[in-house]
Amino acid sequence: MCAGIAGQRGRRILLIDHAPEAGRKILISGGGRCNFTNLDVAPDRYLSANPHFAKSALSRYGPQDFLALVDRHRIAWHEKTLGQLFCDGSARQIVRMLLDECAAGGVTLHLGNPIREVRHAGDQFQVEYGVRTAQAPALVIATGGPSIPKLGATDFAYRLARQFGLKIVEPRPALVPLTLPPEEALFRALAGVATPVVARCGAARFAEAALFTHRGCPARRSCRSRPTGGTGRRSA
Ligand SMILES: Cc1cc2nc3c(=O)[nH]c(=O)nc-3n(C[C@H](O)[C@H](O)[C@H](O)COP(=O)(O)OP(=O)(O)OC[C@H]3O[C@@H](n4cnc5c(N)ncnc54)[C@H](O)[C@@H]3O)c2cc1C
Repeated sequence: MCAGIAGQRGRRILLIDHAPEAGRKILISGGGRCNFTNLDVAPDRYLSANPHFAKSALSRYGPQDFLALVDRHRIAWHEKTLGQLFCDGSARQIVRMLLDECAAGGVTLHLGNPIREVRHAGDQFQVEYGVRTAQAPALVIATGGPSIPKLGATDFAYRLARQFGLKIVEPRPALVPLTLPPEEALFRALAGVATPVVARCGAARFAEAALFTHRGCPARRSCRSRPTGGTGRRSA
C-alpha cells in the first residue's frame, strides 16, 4: 500500500521482501476472503498506547477510502455482520489489487531476498539484501507483526528499531483464545455453545459472538456494536 502510493506520488520505489511471494499473510486473512475493512472503523475502537495515532491516521484515510479502492478494482464484496466487509471471491484479489497499485506507481519488486544489514550515513540509508545494496534517502519498514513465522513474519522491525535507538512498545500476543487450566471447570459445561457476549477492557466495550470450548473461550474477531443500517450488501 505504502509502496504503491509513494510510487504514484512520483517517488522511485524499491520494495524488498524476503518471502518469495508478496502479501502471504493477506492470503489467509478472513478465512481466505480477507475481512478488508469495517464500516464502523473509528478511533475509539483501537486500544493503543497512543490513541491519537488512530485519530490522525483515520482522519486522512478511512474505511470509505479503502472501499473506493476496492470498488475501483471491481472486487465484489459483501457485509457479513457488524460492518465487516469481505471479498465475495478470495483474499488473493486484495493482494492482486495492491500489486496492481504498485505497478501503477512503477514500483520495482525484489522478492525472496533476505536483508543482511541496514545502515544510515549522511542523508542516505543503505540496505544490504541478497547479493545487492540499495541506497535511498527514505526507508519504510513494514514487516508486520511477528505472528505466523512460516508466512515470512519476523521481529526484524523491532531489531532495527533497537539498532536505531527508537523506543518500542513491547509486543504482546493479540487475537488469542482465553485458555483455562484443565482443573478449571467454569466453562466446561458450556463447551460447544456460541453466544453473543459483551467483553470489556477498561472503558472499551466489544459486542460479538463468543464460542466456549472445553479449553476455554477462543477469541473471535470483534467490533463494537453499531446501529443497524449501513451501505454494504448483506450476505444471505
Ligand atoms: C490468521 C490471520 C487472519 C487475519 N485476518 C485478517 C482480516 O480478515 N482482516 C484484517 O484486516 N486483518 C487480518 N489479519 C491481520 C493482517 O493480516 C495484518 O494486520 C496485515 O497483514 C499486516 O500487514 P503488514 O503489511 O503490516 O504486515 P504483513 O502482512 O505481515 O507483511 C510483512 C511483510 O514483511 C516481510 N518480512 C518480514 N520480515 C522480513 C525481513 N527480515 N526481511 C524482508 N522481509 C521481511 C514478510 O515476508 C511480509 O511479506 C489477520 C492475521 C492473521 C495472522
